[in-house]
This record gives sequence, C-alpha cells and structure tokens, in this order.
Amino acid sequence: MHVVMASANAHKVAEMVDLMAVVAPQVTILERPTNVPPVSEDAETLFGNARLKAQALVNATGVAALSDDTGLFVDALGGLPGVHTARYAGVDASDEANIEKLLLALEAPNFPAQGRRAVFRTVALLLLPDGNELVGEGQVFGSIATCASGARGFGYDPVFVPDGSSLTFSEMSLTEKHSHSHRGQAFRALGRSISIHIHERPPAHE
Ligand code: IMP
Repeated sequence: MHVVMASANAHKVAEMVDLMAVVAPQVTILERPTNVPPVSEDAETLFGNARLKAQALVNATGVAALSDDTGLFVDALGGLPGVHTARYAGVDASDEANIEKLLLALEAPNFPAQGRRAVFRTVALLLLPDGNELVGEGQVFGSIATCASGARGFGYDPVFVPDGSSLTFSEMSLTEKHSHSHRGQAFRALGRSISIHIHERPPAHE
C-alpha cells in the first residue's frame, strides 16, 4: 500500500515516518509533493484539521494520504493553545516564541502547580481515495515545566513533562518519547486499523 505524506512540518514528518515503519511496515510512504500549497488549518477540531490536510493531498495526487494534527491543552489556560497550538504566539511563530508565551502565561505569582497540568492530543488519519478513512487517537497527560530543558524534539517538547517521568520530551530519546507520546499512541492505534483494513480487503480477483 502506498500513501502520500500530508503533513508539511519536517519534525512531525520524521516522527510519523519512524512510527509508521514499526506500526504499519506494509505501508510505503511517499514524500509530500512540493507543488501542493500549505493547507489552511481552519477547522475547529484536530480531527477536522487532520482531514483537511489529508483531503488536499488525496485531491492533488489521487493516492491515500496520511496526516497528523496535534494540540496542547493547558488546564490553567482553559485548554489553550489547543487546536491552534502552532499559531499560539502568532502566525508562523517560532517554537521558542510559542514556549516563551506559554511560560509567561503561567508565571503569575502564587500560580497553583495544578494549573500547569496539560495534555497533548493527536489525531492520526489515513484518508483513502474512495473517501474511507482510518483514524487513530492518542493523548498524554503531563505538566508544563517552569523552564525549557533538553535539546531533542521540537515544538513544546522542552517544557512538557509526561506523567510517569521526570524528564521533558526534549530530554528523552525518540524511542522513549514514542513510548509515552500522544503521537506514539495515535499511530499505534492507526496501525491496528490499517492492519484490520488490509486483512478485510477482498482478494483482487473478486
Ligand atoms: P500541527 O499538528 O502541525 O497543527 O501542530 C501544532 C503544533 O503543535 C506544532 O507546530 C508544534 O508546535 C506542536 N506540536 C505538535 N506535536 C508536538 C510534539 O510532539 N511535541 C511538541 N510540540 C508538538
């Protein structure tokens, strides 16, 4: 089975490819064609944005498309940055600017530790050319550290400490991040759906 990558974020793509090699080795991932313009992620849900990205690539290529949409939901901020996590500090904001804005928002004196509770959520979606879609969802609860630490990963990894660990995602190896992460869980679920889908398909001669 060949699928085209719908996500354009190079860091995310690297993680998705790494995970797919383990959870769905029967799938060959094709690079996102460079002539397809970026997709406006205007939907109000992770699922809606994952579908928008995949649909644009199915339309452009005619083959199945794989997408991921992720949000960070912080308790004390009423769930922000949420669906618009990439644009928290503005359109095209850098990871550093997003982190700085987040840490400042949580800096008020006497801020309760409980307010730093947060969850990363991911929807992984495979849209088939016939309109059928396979979906995997994942989430990881944790807390926002008071300062950034670690050199690996991307996005908010330097300030996210998943429950059950004392390290930020940026201080973990990629394998260790996958074992905890929203994306690891979402792709393990998607891999199970792909496997069922492939085994349920009728033989080609029927
Ligand atoms: P999107 O799914 O491309 O809309 O991702 C939204 C934003 O969430 C990205 O730009 C990153 O800043 C952040 N993000 C997504 N996945 C991760 C992750 O695994 N770790 C840290 N930040 C992430």
